[in-house]
Amino acid sequence: MNSQATAIRVEDLSKTFETAAVLHDFNLDVRAGELLALLGPSGSGKTTLLRIIAGLDFPDRGRIIFGRDDATRVPVQQRAVGFVFQHYALFKHMTVADNIAYGLNARKRSERPDKAEIKRRVGNLLDLIKLSGFADRYPSQLSGGQRQRIALARALAVEPRVLLLDEPFGALDAQVRKDLRRWLREIHDRTGQTTIFVTHDQDEALELSDRVAVLDRGRLEQVGTPDEVQEHPVSPTVLKFLGDTI
Ligand code: ADP
Repeated sequence: MNSQATAIRVEDLSKTFETAAVLHDFNLDVRAGELLALLGPSGSGKTTLLRIIAGLDFPDRGRIIFGRDDATRVPVQQRAVGFVFQHYALFKHMTVADNIAYGLNARKRSERPDKAEIKRRVGNLLDLIKLSGFADRYPSQLSGGQRQRIALARALAVEPRVLLLDEPFGALDAQVRKDLRRWLREIHDRTGQTTIFVTHDQDEALELSDRVAVLDRGRLEQVGTPDEVQEHPVSPTVLKFLGDTI
């Protein structure tokens, strides 16, 4: 399913907060249809990179290219990205169906699908995430894992160019987390949605992704398939970071 076409190019990106450099001359290509994990210890710059790709933050230098379009200064609302963050909660006062439809309903009228089409899409997404009977429930009636599945459906509803996931299962207990990992991989295999998944958990990255980008202190140490980074770590840092899992 993975093509080799580049969906997103991160080019010579640098970002500094106050005096601390968080990303240094960062380069990375994300391929169309792949599930790429950004893996690194806490503070290595993963979330900052994801926020810049999303358009929630802007770099000091460098560019973000979506396909052929320079998106560096395009605001988040115009970037066609979907995201799920650990604490990016559902809207409590809305039903599951309305939560999933949120991004579609928020569009201006000329770009908004009609009600029947929105309903159809929400139904398809509920089928995809295997929560078909849940349309009229409220978030308070769902488990933590179910809420994150709904959050994923909400992110997919707008047919994003890229799906950005920042430790989406981080707040859940270990067993649920494992189940959701497998579940996400299945969803990915069915949709072929270009996805970037941030995690500091080596097992999660290696099990879930097509390729892993290993970050350390704002630099890209290595990018490759899980087998490549495990079997041929290019630096002592990668070896050390993946060491526990080899
Ligand atoms: P990670 O996601 O890998 O844990 P982050 O991208 O969240 O890393 O953070 C990288 C570094 O940037 C950390 O040292 C963090 O304290 C700093 N940082 C992130 N966001 C801000 C901000 N808005 N203001 C100041 N420093 C920040």
